[in-house]
Amino acid sequence: MKYLDEYRDQRVAGNLIEEIKRTITRPWVLMEVCGGQTHSIVKYGLDRLLPEQVELVHGPGCPVCVTSLETIDRAHAIARMPDVIFCSFGDMLRVPGTHGDLFKIKSEGGIVRVVYSPLDCLKIARANPDKQVVFFAIGFETTAPANAMSVWEARRHGITNFSVLVSHVLVPPAMRGILDSPNNRVQAFLGPGHVCAISGWTEYEPIVDRYRVPVVVTGFEPIDILQGVLLCVQQLEQGRAELENGYARAVQRKGNAAAREMIGRVFRVCDRAWRGLGVIPQSGYSLTGEFSAYDAESRFDVSRIHAVEPAVCMSGEILKGLMKPLDCPAFGRECNPENPLGATMVSAEGACAAYYSYGRHLVDAHSLAAGSR
Ligand code: SF4
Repeated sequence: MKYLDEYRDQRVAGNLIEEIKRTITRPWVLMEVCGGQTHSIVKYGLDRLLPEQVELVHGPGCPVCVTSLETIDRAHAIARMPDVIFCSFGDMLRVPGTHGDLFKIKSEGGIVRVVYSPLDCLKIARANPDKQVVFFAIGFETTAPANAMSVWEARRHGITNFSVLVSHVLVPPAMRGILDSPNNRVQAFLGPGHVCAISGWTEYEPIVDRYRVPVVVTGFEPIDILQGVLLCVQQLEQGRAELENGYARAVQRKGNAAAREMIGRVFRVCDRAWRGLGVIPQSGYSLTGEFSAYDAESRFDVSRIHAVEPAVCMSGEILKGLMKPLDCPAFGRECNPENPLGATMVSAEGACAAYYSYGRHLVDAHSLAAGSR
């Protein structure tokens, strides 16, 4: 298949791995930012094909994983209300809140619907004028344009029984937070390809300059990832720290101008609480004052709901690159996809889910003892 098979070509992958082996002379820690990249790495076993000196740690780029427990509890409180149709992408339904998940609320009579686009909610709102339709607007810069568009279109068409529970997060502040951490191990980033398709890479240049850390914008197929690793290793070995675009077929320096304009019309940058990472200044989007009437948090008065993260889940350490799923004592035991203790076990982009889906919990005792490579 064009644009797919050539990025999974075993011969090309083998050549890239050999080139990495020829280039590397010492250990380096690289973080892949996106959960989609983590899944490719684990699915194709790329981390096990690379030379031992390359350690890949998994970043915070899974939108479901980093949505705060507080926000999830607020979403659940709204979904339980009478006359509310609560709409969400499917991957949020199994994410545990303090008192269960959206599936449980649905089984108890709540109206919860899976949508494929936030614009579908406007059709639902039109068809149900006696209900309040709420969309759970989470995600990174990638999902923000369509979510902004839904609010823009709701106002344009005078749809007043629609609102959004916004919990958007932004990648660059999270990367800065990781690099500022006193126990940071990350020496280079495989940058978030899909996020950069929207935002471009200009926001990453100050990170490269300030922290002297290579950032290579990287795609999601095995060849993309191996190419990203090679470019990072070349920079590190040569003492360079530069922004390189390894995903030229999708990403341009300034991103998608129309998408950025739509974001700018509807959202403003705000402080945001990340699950496992805490509050990161200026790391999220919220609605501007002009669109505050569409804010579900104030419409349903749920902002006073607060939650305490369960101590057992170590996903925060995983999302900062300090641990890997196999380092969590609960992995594959008390915590599994049937009984998830954290969002990283149920999200389609979660690191724990990737390790479980691709059988890393089936390793023998020797491998467990040796760590999670
Ligand atoms: S295995 Fe479960 S408890 Fe452990 S970090 Fe992952 S989601 Fe959290």
